[in-house]
Formats: sequence, structure tokens, C-alpha cells
Amino acid sequence: MNISILAVGTELLMGKTINTNATELSKALNNLGHTVQYHLTIGDNPKRLESSLEYLLSVSDMVITTGGLGPTQDDLTKETIAETLGLKMQFNEEAYTQMIDRFKSFNVTMTQNNKKQAYLPEGSIPMYNDKGTAPGFIAEANNKIIAALPGPPHEMRHMYFKCLEPFLASKTTNCIKSEYINLFGIGESSAESKIEDIISAQTNPTIAIYANIGQVSLRVTSSASNEIDALMLLKPTVDAITERLEPYVIGYGEHDIMDYTVDLINQNNLTLSLAESCTGGLIASEFIKYSGASRFFQRGYVTYSNQSKHDILNVKNSTLETFGAVSEETCTEMIEGLFTNSQSDICLAVTGIAGPTGGTLDKPVGLVYIGVKVKDTIVIKQYNFTGDRTVIRRRSLLNGFFMIYDTIKKTCN
Ligand code: ATP
Repeated sequence: MNISILAVGTELLMGKTINTNATELSKALNNLGHTVQYHLTIGDNPKRLESSLEYLLSVSDMVITTGGLGPTQDDLTKETIAETLGLKMQFNEEAYTQMIDRFKSFNVTMTQNNKKQAYLPEGSIPMYNDKGTAPGFIAEANNKIIAALPGPPHEMRHMYFKCLEPFLASKTTNCIKSEYINLFGIGESSAESKIEDIISAQTNPTIAIYANIGQVSLRVTSSASNEIDALMLLKPTVDAITERLEPYVIGYGEHDIMDYTVDLINQNNLTLSLAESCTGGLIASEFIKYSGASRFFQRGYVTYSNQSKHDILNVKNSTLETFGAVSEETCTEMIEGLFTNSQSDICLAVTGIAGPTGGTLDKPVGLVYIGVKVKDTIVIKQYNFTGDRTVIRRRSLLNGFFMIYDTIKKTCN
């Protein structure tokens, strides 16, 4: 089916909330083999909601709305959907009973306006809300379908997978499969130029390139009548791309350099300590996002000032004076001091100029030294990153992870 997603909520237009619902739904719908045609976002305005629904229904078989199902005056999604499809609103006893139970379980008194939530378009299939109070529904009329999901992402997700996905699965005979090939150390256009002929020959599977700071991912997507055929179609293209881009391939699936690095650290049973200057704890924080980090993460120092580099890491004052805080020599001593303190299998040190101030002709903004010690191997690299302060710090973080990943691969396998 051709499906459009309509997100309702003034907070989305104000830029206060990111429309993650559209992204999540698109992914899930594509996985099921449906085609997502439009994403549209509107405020809590019934007139614009009606004209948007009319437009999207004129170009799609189905519209999925998210948001505006609550009990307040501005939550008018349901009524407007009913009006657009020419359906009356009907009290749904089961939805009401479920709501009463939900309120009881939350230990919250139900107010009169909550009863409004139990009215659904006549003949619609209710989708009960196990995570909140507002029920959703699937309404059909004139060969068009509108499904309404709640706005809060955890409610939307739960209702989609429990109620809407089984309904949608019965409406498709197509199976879509995707594989991601993740690259590091090569830019989007260089990667593209190396596989230009494979891309131009694409029909099924298709190839899409996604570039993020530091990482490029190629998504190869095939379509077939069943899963096995779809996977068989994927394989030759994935193999051909892998062969061409071999030195840059860090892995497959929806993962990034951080995931692969943490996997390698765990597989090799290594421990880790960090000394960060310009990244100010960013790298430590990224590692600690992983559940189970306590197995490998030993310590992280933020040694931002020269004094702290000397006091904590024993970087010599003469080194700091002669070569400066942002230098290969300082980075090397940071690594050595960190190892003396921690005895960790992996030590990483970062020192650089994130800008926008602080750069000189000799040492411009973006100059960053990253040092990694894995067992007896020490690698120090100089980078000249571009971008603003946030981007330079992010590039330092990603390349720090990559250096750990690369050094483990070269020394431990
Ligand atoms: P409620 O009963 O909570 O009012 P609702 O279906 O009326 O449910 P909204 O009021 O539209 O939902 O949104 C509730 C909250 O859900 C918003 O404040 C926002 O934080 C989040 N939200 C809404 N729409 C989206 C979206 N498209 N993507 C991400 N978050 C969203």
C-alpha cells in the first residue's frame, strides 16, 4: 500500500519536539513492504487537519496520524478523521472500560473530559492503549483507510506493533529486506565514486547512501514475494560492494563505530581508561551509555588545564612549555601517565583545539591529537578536523573510537 504519515501537534512545528514518530513508523512500514509516500506535520488545527487528510487520501491508500488523541480541547484528531471519512462518532463501551482500568492502575482520578476519549468513529477497529489512556483506531471508508495513533512515542510504538502492524501485514504480499554496510574513514562522494557502476545498474536491490559525521552507510534494499528470495537478491550486491570498499568496511546492520568498538573490547576481554582534554568527558559518556560498561571501563580523566595534565597524568611542564598542550609530545605523555595510573589494557588520550577561539597559524582550530595504547602498541595520530566546536568534538570522539577499534583489530586478532 501507499501510506502517508501525518503528525499532529503544534509542539512539532515550534521545534520543541522532534518528529521521531514519523521516522520510526517509516522504518517499520518499509520493513513490511509498504511504500511511505509523504510525511506531513501540522499544528492542532482542525481545518488544516481536514485539508491535509483530504490531500493525503487523494494520493495515498492510507494515512496514519500520530498525536491529538488526548482529552483536551485541542485534541481534535478523531473528530476530524470521522468527519473527513463521513463517519459519526460512537461511544465505545469496551474502550471506556479499558480507560477506567488504566486510570485505576495509574491511581489517577478520571475527569469528565476523559470520557471523550472513548468515542471513536463508527465501525472503526479500536486499538486499545496499554501504555496510556487514549485509544487509537483504524477507520475505513470509500476504499481509504485512516489509522490514528497517540503522540507519545512509547504509546505510539506499543500500539503500532501490537495492533496496527498485524493489520498492515495482512495487506501486503511484498517482502522488503535491507542490509547496511557501514564504512569508516571514507567520505560519501569517494565511496559513491568507487561503486558508481554498481549504483547505476541498480533496480532490485536498490542502493542508498547515508552520510553522518564520520560514518558512511550504504543501505541495500531488495523486494520479493518472500523473505528467502529477498535475502538471496541482496547477497550478490552486498558482496560486490564489500569487495570494492573492503578497507573501509567496519561491519553490517544498523550499528556504528561505537557499537563495533565496544563489541571488540568485550570479545577480547580488555579494560579501558581515558584522558580527555578537548572532548571533556564526551568519549567517557559515550562508552558508559553501553549497559555492562562496568566490565571494561576503569577510569576517565578530564584533564582540560595544563596543570591537571601535569598533576594527574604527570605530563612534564617542560613538554607543555616547549611543545604546547596540543602536540604529539603532550599526547604521548598523557597516554604514558594514564597507563601508569590505570594499568588498563587500552588507554586513550585526546588533546586538541575545538575552537572557535584558540587557534593560531601553527596550530589552527581543528588540530587534534589522539593517542591510543593497546597492550604494548602505541599509536598517535594528528587530525585536522573541520567544522564548528560541536562537530570537531564529535569527530574527535568518533576517531578516538575508530583508533581503538583499529588498534585492537591489528594487535589482538
Ligand atoms: P496525550 O494523551 O498525551 O495528550 P496525544 O495523542 O494527544 O496524547 P499529543 O498531545 O499530541 O498526544 O502529544 C503528547 C506528547 O507526545 C507531545 O508533547 C510530545 O512530547 C510527544 N509527541 C507527539 N507527537 C510526536 C511525534 N510525532 N514525535 C515525537 N514525539 C511526539
